Amino acid sequence: MDIDKKVWEVLCSEEDIAARLTALGKEISDEYRDKKLYVISLLRGSFVFTADLVRKLDIPVKIDFMTTSSYGHDTESSGTVQIVTDIKENLEDYHVLVVDDITDSGLTMKFVMDHLKTKNPQSVKSCVLLDKPERRKVEIVPDYVGFTIPDKFVVGYGLNYGDYYRNIPYVFVVTDQDR
Ligand code: 5GP
Repeated sequence: MDIDKKVWEVLCSEEDIAARLTALGKEISDEYRDKKLYVISLLRGSFVFTADLVRKLDIPVKIDFMTTSSYGHDTESSGTVQIVTDIKENLEDYHVLVVDDITDSGLTMKFVMDHLKTKNPQSVKSCVLLDKPERRKVEIVPDYVGFTIPDKFVVGYGLNYGDYYRNIPYVFVVTDQDR
């Protein structure tokens, strides 16, 4: 697919995202106000979301990044998730919030949460900008969701298409011009 020859349909505008993140930031701050929060962001897709979200928190927070990989088709998790870069710090005193760009099949989030639980943190919850519940292969309901979206391939605001477009400041779907 040559993305430049397609129509970009904005799904979540910059304004939509900013407003939703303000609300999410308040909700998360209220929940973790008396707890030691550790945000663990999954690279690379969630770097934009994480950077904006953590600046909406009004509580102390530690932040680190994990890299996972999944083998298979470009636009889909294959079912085999691997941890490329793990968290090195001892998490036992912390409440962990895993932040990702999107939950699609749910395989990545489930695998990462199960992995982090083996490090015996106080709790492990999940926060995703986008949730595509129609696509689930494993049972998982993210604890915090920015937007629930239909089963469409989305790009922008950290999400890539062929390693590009992560810098586009809104989320869009690509459709055919003559649709
Ligand atoms: P899951 O393991 O839930 O199937 O997928 C998680 C990862 O697949 C996401 O972190 C993201 O990198 C990729 N992914 C899933 N759906 C989309 C999509 O619609 N657009 C893009 N760009 N990536 C997606």
